[in-house]
This record gives sequence, C-alpha cells and structure tokens, in this order.
Amino acid sequence: MLYFIEVVLPLAVSKTFTYQVSEAEFHYIQIGMRVAVPFGKTKIYTALVVGKSNTPPHLYEAKEIHQILDEKPVVNLHQIEHWKWIASYYMCSLGEVFRSALPSGYILESETIISSKENTKIDLNDLKDDEYLILEALKSQSSITVQEVIKILGKKTVFPIINRLLTKGALVLQEEISEQYKPKLVRYIRLQEEFLQQERLVELLEVLSKAKKQRELVLHYFQLQAREKAPISVKKLIETSGSTSAVVKSLVDKTIFEEYYIAQDRVAFDKEDDCQFMLSEAQQTAFDSIKENFKTFDVSLLHGVTASGKTEIYIKLLEQYINEGKQVLFLLPEIALTTQLVQRLTAYFGNEVAVFHSKYTNNERIEVWNQVLENSPKAKVVIGVRSALFLPFSNLGCIIVDEEHEQTFKQHDPAPRYHARDAAIVLAKQHGAKVVLGSATPSLETYYNVQSNKYGLTELKVRYGNVILPEIQLVDLKDKYFRKKMSGHFSDELLEEITETLSKGEQVILFQNRRGFSPYVECMTCGHVPHCPSCDVSLTYYKFKNQLRCHYCGHSISNPTHCHSCQSVDLTTKGFGTEQIEMELKTFFPENNIGRMDQDTTRGKFGFEKIIDSFKNREIDVLVGTQMLAKGLDFDNVTLVGILNADNLLNQPNFRAYERAYQMMVQVSGRAGRSEKKGKVVIQTYSPYHNTIQQVLGNNYIGMFREQVYERQNFKYPPFYRLVKLTLKHRDFDKLKEGSMWIYNVLSQNLDMPVLGPEEPAINRIRNEYIRTIMVKIPVEKQLSNTKKNIARVLMSFEAVSQYRSIKVKVDVDVY
Ligand code: ADP
Ligand code: ZN
Ligand code: ZN
Repeated sequence: MLYFIEVVLPLAVSKTFTYQVSEAEFHYIQIGMRVAVPFGKTKIYTALVVGKSNTPPHLYEAKEIHQILDEKPVVNLHQIEHWKWIASYYMCSLGEVFRSALPSGYILESETIISSKENTKIDLNDLKDDEYLILEALKSQSSITVQEVIKILGKKTVFPIINRLLTKGALVLQEEISEQYKPKLVRYIRLQEEFLQQERLVELLEVLSKAKKQRELVLHYFQLQAREKAPISVKKLIETSGSTSAVVKSLVDKTIFEEYYIAQDRVAFDKEDDCQFMLSEAQQTAFDSIKENFKTFDVSLLHGVTASGKTEIYIKLLEQYINEGKQVLFLLPEIALTTQLVQRLTAYFGNEVAVFHSKYTNNERIEVWNQVLENSPKAKVVIGVRSALFLPFSNLGCIIVDEEHEQTFKQHDPAPRYHARDAAIVLAKQHGAKVVLGSATPSLETYYNVQSNKYGLTELKVRYGNVILPEIQLVDLKDKYFRKKMSGHFSDELLEEITETLSKGEQVILFQNRRGFSPYVECMTCGHVPHCPSCDVSLTYYKFKNQLRCHYCGHSISNPTHCHSCQSVDLTTKGFGTEQIEMELKTFFPENNIGRMDQDTTRGKFGFEKIIDSFKNREIDVLVGTQMLAKGLDFDNVTLVGILNADNLLNQPNFRAYERAYQMMVQVSGRAGRSEKKGKVVIQTYSPYHNTIQQVLGNNYIGMFREQVYERQNFKYPPFYRLVKLTLKHRDFDKLKEGSMWIYNVLSQNLDMPVLGPEEPAINRIRNEYIRTIMVKIPVEKQLSNTKKNIARVLMSFEAVSQYRSIKVKVDVDVY
C-alpha cells in the first residue's frame, strides 16, 4: 500500500500537489498540518495538508516530503472551506489565499531571508548546536537565506530550528518592520522650581498682572495642585480651568511652566472599574431590534447616525455571545482605528481581547493565531482589520463589521482581492454566526440588500445623550474669490469659525483629500509639468523638503529652479494639499499647535497613535488631514470641522464618486460636536447646489441612495451588475496593446454580456509598465460561476499564446 498527501503550496498555481509519505507519517499527519516539501529543482516550501489518499498522481511521480512541521493542525477545516470559497469567488489560487492568511513566520520557504535581531540577549547555554551555528553565521553576514542555512547545517530539515530561534526572539524575518513597542507618553506640566519659593511667586503674579489669562491659569494650577497632590497633566489643567493650550504654551515659552512626560503603559489590558454603562433608551431599542432581526436574518444593518453610540451596542451584543462561550470578531476598516477601539473594548472585557493586524510583528501575530486556534480565553474578542478573517476560529458567534461602507475593506494587491465584509458574511454562515454591519452612511450595496429583504435593518437616528447633529454651513468659493474674501485657501467665514472655536479652548479638524503641498508644478512660460520618469503621473510638490515626489513609486527629485523643457524660471505650483494648509494655518494662528495626519506623517507602527493621542490630549489644536480623519474617530472636544474643497471629492472618475463624496462629508462632519458641545461644519465648494452637497446638507441618505441606485441601474453598475476587471501590464506598449485586444475579442465572442475596453486607465503607466484594463459586466441574474469559468478558460488560452506569456494579468472581482 502506498501513502500520499495532497498539499497546497503558497503559490499562484491553481492545482494542489501530491507527495508521498511513509505509513507512519500517513497515520500521524492530519489535515491542516504544515509540511516542508521540495518543489522544482532546488526550492523548499511550507505546504498545507488538505487531503490524504492511497492513489498516486497519474501525471507525475510523487516526491517525498522533507518533514512534518506540526504536532497538531494549525489550520482548521472551517478555514480551508472558507479559503476555497475565497479562491473560487475572487478568481485566484488557494495557494495565494493560504499565503496571505498565515503569519509569514509560519510559511518559511527556501528563499526566505532571515537576520539576527539586534539588542536581544540570548543565553548561549540555552541554544542547541544547530541554533548556535545559525547565529554564528549571522555574525559575519547581516542576513542569510533559508537555503544557505540548509547548506551550513548540512541537512534539509531546518524549518523547525529556524522557528525555534524566531520564538526565542533571536531572529527576524527580513520583511518585518521590527519596531519596538514604545509606551505612550502623556504630557504633564509643573511650575519651574524657582517659583516654588513664596517671594518669587508673588513676584511672578505681579509680572503676569498684565497677562490676565496666564495669571489666572497659574492661580488655577495652584488650586489644582493643592487639591490633587499628584502630577497634573496638560489635558487636566486645560479642562478644569477652561483655559486653552495656547495659554499653556506661552507660559512654557516664558519658562514659567515646565513640561515633562510620564509613560502610560497601555499594553496591560486591565478592566476598568468604572467602565460599566447603561444603554440609552434609543440604544436599547436598537439593541432589541437587532436581536429581533436575527430571528429572520443572518445579517443585520445598524444604520445609526455618527456618535449615536453604535460601539456601545456592539459591546452589549458581543457580551451575550461571549457568555454563551462563543468567539466574536470585530472588523475595522483601518489600523488607525484599532487604538481607540482597543481602549474601549479592553476597558470592558479586560484581557479577553486580542488584536490582530499587519503592523504587529510575526511573533505577536503567531501568538494571537494560536490563542484563537486553542479557543483561549485571551482571544474571546478579536479586533482586527480584514486579514483577521483568516484566523483559526472554530466557534464564531458573531461578527461586527464596523464602518461597513469603507472601501479599505476591499484588498487591492496582492491576490486574494477579497472584500472583507462579503467574505465575513460567508464565514459567519459556515459557523452559523450572525453579522452586524454598522455605518452612519451604508454602502449602496448593503442598503440595497436591506431593501431587497436580504438583510435586516435597525435605525438609530439620535446621537447619544441627545446631542444634536452639527449644523452645516456652505461657503460658495466662486463668490468668495470674486469678492476677495479668501486668505490663502480659507474663506473669511471659515477663519472666523476657527478663531472662535480656538478661543473657547475647543478643537478643529480640517479636511483636504490630497497630501503634499501641491499636486503639481507648472511652467508659466511653456506649460511643462514635471512628471515621474517611470509613471504617467505628475510629481507632487513638498515644500518643507523642497522636493517633488511620485505618489506611485516614491521617486523624488529636488525642486527644479528652472523649467526642464524651456529653461524658464517662471514656475508655479497648482492645487493644494494638506502640507500647504498646515503651513497657511501656522501663519494665521502662530499661537496654536497645528497637526497633520496623512500617509506622510503616520508611517511606522505607532504613527497613527502618536497623532491621535496628542490630539486627544489636546496638545494639538487644529488637525489637518486626509480621509484618514473621516473614519470613526471619537474626540470629545472637537466642535468645528472644515472641508476645504468639496469639489475634489465630487470630481473623481469613478462610478462611486458621489456615493463616496456623500459618505466622506457626512463622516468628517460626524467628528464635530460628539459630546455636550454643539458642533459646526463649514463646507467650502464651487458647487453649493450640487445634489450630493444638498443631500449632505439635508442629512438625506435616502435621497442620495435613490438617486445613485437609479444611476447605477441606468449605467449597468453594481448592485445590478457584477464587475470583473482584468488589468494587463507590460513594459512593451505595442505588445500590451495587441495582447489586450486578443483577450477582449475572445471574451466578447464568448460572453453574452457587456465587455468594455481595452481601456487605457487615467494613469496608464506605473513603474515603467504600461497598463490596459478590460471590464466585464455580469448581470446579477446570470449565473456567476459559469461566467467566471468562461473568463478563466479564456485566460488559460491566453497564457498558452507564447508571445503574450510575459504579459501580467490581474483579475479583480467586485471592483471597488
Ligand atoms: P458611533 O460609533 O455611533 O459614531 P460612539 O460609539 O463612538 O458612536 O459613541 C459616541 C460617544 O458617546 C462615545 O464617546 C461613547 O463613549 C459615548 N456613549 C455612547 N453610548 C453611551 C452609553 N450608553 N453610555 C455612556 N457613553 C456612551
Ligand atoms: Zn517651460
Ligand atoms: Zn513614479
């Protein structure tokens, strides 16, 4: 009798592979274990066992495996089933799903590069000989491949040894950004020591008699100090005195106050005693309605206005599932949001909460993986971004998809290009679990599903504490420019509102959906615009660094002093981004602290946290940012939100542009006036009468929904048609043109539905590769799987045409 196993390799090949094992191995191996296998001439991969049999493959001779890597399965059957669904629905290989699902430390391969970890003390007596040899080799080289380890040790079974070193913290994988955890620092304030003597203090108050606000603050500091007998944070000082951070700043500048920082440890997840809360009446009604919906529907939409307290409802709901012994998953669209949510959930659930996202190190991710696998009490509630869907849940009771309308739930690259909301619904079904989709501005697709009676609906129309929704004020930019009422990019109205808000010690958020200083530089003489040499885009101007930079490939040059085309020195910048707004603000409000949050300021593991924390602690008065600001953040002291140019949002070349513009505007507006203080929103625009703007003004979601659904139906878009987009890339323009024409022709002959293209996208070259796209529009009433099979067949025959083999084709199902 012969023994074989079926395995999935972490590659973009559609098949599984058969390997031979011994009888003993066969009985030991279970589905979901990993094995190291040889592949091709020299490569070794980590593969996942998905089947066992006694029949040899008929097309090739089965090789033997190198070794078994696990003592028990690390992947369960639910996962394999879910991954198969993802692979088939999103038209990619199971191997690609496997590859992105497991933490990379779990899928070592011969090409993986390892290096030793700095600053870790390893007890040499603790090392086995093999481990010692690897670390020795890494003393003379900064990094080595797993293949080299195999040579050094003279054996093929090296994955477990490397894994042991990874667990001991002696090694890191090259791809990791290994940033150490830095405890969060809180800003405190104290009086400079010299003023602690009585006579110096009298002198000081004398000196300040003209600076009334500063004098008051110093006096207040004394009262507070006497009462609290503990360090006083800047936040507390400002809150209790009703003063502003500008006053604190001037006292620091005059060396009267002194700032210092104390670390506040956030890693220990302790339950806070006062975290108990009661749902308001409206929240309780919504809660009951969701439970009622679950009797008929597996999925329920919670459509609740911003700051209605959706999170509190989720918490009470999750608690019930946990009490029944179930696991629950809380999906968020963005890593930036995890900070606040983790704080709120751990305050309630203590250390039953685990967090999973890509900015965590391998070890941290593997730890969470194993906790979920063992159904550990430490991972009852899992918070994560889309990849948390791949964790080894065995007993899911409920999935929350918060801010379900967010496009970041769709993965772009690499495959699998899945939509985490939709994949979550499928996963829940496998577990018999329920799903809550939450949003103040649901996606068209979801709301359409509600109307078609596929999902339940719960509405929550009031903010928590009956706080009123912010008042929205439109500013007509055309008129303001005409009447010369603009300073920089600020209308007089917006500037007045900012001034007033700051004078009350309240905070401001300003939204501009472009980063950098200006999107491009233009020659006034000949009109030349500097472009990236490898991409078909203009270079963005960064004033502070005096650079032009490509947002697609990162290429940068120093800012030209003359036109590269006609030598003229008459260059100007066009358009504006967050950097420019930040600089203008600094000149208008020199006394205040201005912060900026966009992709350029939030790099690194704790990039977001730093900015969010200092804004929350009121060390920043005005925060300027891109769409990152629109995502569910909760700041209690923000009472003014400004949108500098709403037209940027409306004029996007995308069928979702108006839906998104609506969502974005309502969401940023929703950051204003979330606690007792009433909020205000100022929207600057050239088109105040645009339907979408009017819908935002009237808080008219249904109006937006009806209009957009009508358009989508007319122009053959989701939810009436499913979109499958093929993106073809090649360095050779003519070859690409020919190849895409070939696919287009074959597709349109084989499919009786709209096939559009081949189109040159707005940006038709990135990193020196030309791009063409083809779009297939599949009517929802057609059978999807058949159409996909047809498309896959066409792509297979395309690959078989030798002159086109080098053209890369990417498939994206349900384009976002
Ligand atoms: P949403 O997610 O709907 O935008 P949040 O859940 O962030 O709203 O709630 C807005 C604010 O109101 C938060 O600061 C939250 O702590 C507070 N809040 C909401 N519900 C309650 C409650 N039942 N008890 C106490 N505070 C609440
Ligand atoms: Zn020129
Ligand atoms: Zn570029």
